[in-house]
Amino acid sequence: MAEVTYSHIDAITAVKPPQRRECDECVKIRAPWVHLRTCQKCGVTSCCDDSPNRHASQHARTSKHPVIASAEPGERWLYCYPHEAFAEY
Ligand SMILES: [Zn+2]
Ligand SMILES: [Zn+2]
Ligand SMILES: [Zn+2]
Repeated sequence: MAEVTYSHIDAITAVKPPQRRECDECVKIRAPWVHLRTCQKCGVTSCCDDSPNRHASQHARTSKHPVIASAEPGERWLYCYPHEAFAEY
């Protein structure tokens, strides 16, 4: 159903930028990460699926926060986990 695919992304009126450019969970366990993503519900920044610990998708699953934004400089896109939907902004 196309009309619901972007419902989570459309609900975002102002994109939350990363507070810090690091994955809090990886810092705790001293793990490396590849790219960073910022949760658009609570603003936490965590690592992408190319990273060994995949904290961003883990966070989305456990806290049911559907949408992340790329926290990489120069990247302007949102991703909705439950709908697997990408959108640039
Ligand atoms: Zn969605
Ligand atoms: Zn991480
Ligand atoms: Zn969150």
